[in-house]
Amino acid sequence: MSVSGNLKSFKGGIHPPSDWKELSRNKETVQAPLPDFAYVYMSQHIGAPAKPMVAKGDKVKKGQRVGEAQAFVSAHTHAPIAGEVVDITFRSHPVSGARTQVVVIKREGEDEWADGLNKPTDVQNLSPDDIRNLIKEAGIVGLGGAAFPTHVKLSPPKDKKVEAIILNGAECEPYLTCDYRLMMEKTQEVVEGLRIIMKCLGCNNAYIGIEANKKDSYEKVKQVVGTDPNIKVELLEVKYPQGAEHQLIKAILRREFKPTQLPVEVGAVVHNISTTYAIYEAVRHKRPLIQRVVTVTGDGVDSPTNLLLRIGSPIEPVLRQAGLRDDAKRIIFGGPMMGIAQPDIAETTTIKGTGGILVLRSAETWASHACIRCGKCVEACPYGLNPSILSILCEAKNFQAAMEFNLMECKECGCCTYVCTSRRPIVHLVKTAKFELARQKAREQAKQQVATAPAK
Ligand code: SF4
Ligand code: SF4
Repeated sequence: MSVSGNLKSFKGGIHPPSDWKELSRNKETVQAPLPDFAYVYMSQHIGAPAKPMVAKGDKVKKGQRVGEAQAFVSAHTHAPIAGEVVDITFRSHPVSGARTQVVVIKREGEDEWADGLNKPTDVQNLSPDDIRNLIKEAGIVGLGGAAFPTHVKLSPPKDKKVEAIILNGAECEPYLTCDYRLMMEKTQEVVEGLRIIMKCLGCNNAYIGIEANKKDSYEKVKQVVGTDPNIKVELLEVKYPQGAEHQLIKAILRREFKPTQLPVEVGAVVHNISTTYAIYEAVRHKRPLIQRVVTVTGDGVDSPTNLLLRIGSPIEPVLRQAGLRDDAKRIIFGGPMMGIAQPDIAETTTIKGTGGILVLRSAETWASHACIRCGKCVEACPYGLNPSILSILCEAKNFQAAMEFNLMECKECGCCTYVCTSRRPIVHLVKTAKFELARQKAREQAKQQVATAPAK
């Protein structure tokens, strides 16, 4: 751990010249108009895709389950609006790009919850299993972008003890302010969400880590936590990627672990602020995950904003409402460091993991130059990797050698690409290499299946 003043921090990482959060940080969250159509992807999470449990022509109510989880590591999906199922089709996934099954709902009638939902519960009388079930029923996944099913994260292996829970209030990606707005506007609810997680995991030791550029939310959260001896609110150095699990755990708990290990290996569990608010909504009010706060920002829109947006909303009307500029060139889901560029504004809809839509007027493409071995990327990598060698090996398609240099431990955080003197597209090279390796493995498995299949 390193400390800047009395701020907690970690080794490596980068300091972008600005966080560009001033564009939207003071914009209170407003409810976005309901979409006319909602597109519910059956895969909005890590794990097995959900299976549609509705048919074309079915009428659905808000919050009704429309996709059923197909494995333990999977998540249900729900109708974000009331209406009629008008199609069950395949569309390009906004993160993976893969063709993915989608239930399309046309809005009709009143915006009414399905039976049994939107009812207050008595949290005091819920057992850890009741809490986990409500979270599973609500289809909650990690809303910081990873989209790992939350009920799985709340079911640690029996031989692993959770000693500390950390709420990630760092929101270290430049531009994004959705978690900041929740900490400012829904402080009580976020802290109650944390207490629900603590009860579920039977853990009386929690931390809320907030970057020092959000001092007002730090003060507000601290005030709501009050004298609770089991929750500590920590101020963190402003540094990217301060909000990544490894870096948060290093900064707050001073525990180190390998990039391939899970936080629970060192007794920790990390949850994001938006996820914690969704947990509060699901457990306290029986409301499934059908909407979330989304930051719409960047110099490509005239009025950056924070919207409470139904999941599955087409982005074009949202961006037009925010004053999409004619000279906007790039649309990114997420922030500039880890976000995913969206090629088609007319075809793109949000998913659970969409916490920000960044619109930029620059379409800068980075010309790739040879590595000059300056070492800046090695200094910046928060996981102790050698991005220079990785990029050279991946460029040469020498994937096996790249594996020996821990290719799979790269978290694709983008710090190396950001600092690279030669503007090398290191993350792109790493991602392409991983994709190619996954394809090779799938091909080999298919060949093996053919070779071992019984002759007809
Ligand atoms: S993208 Fe990978 S190699 Fe580059 S700094 Fe992040 S973890 Fe290290
Ligand atoms: S920062 Fe870029 S040029 Fe410098 S060593 Fe790393 S890859 Fe090479």
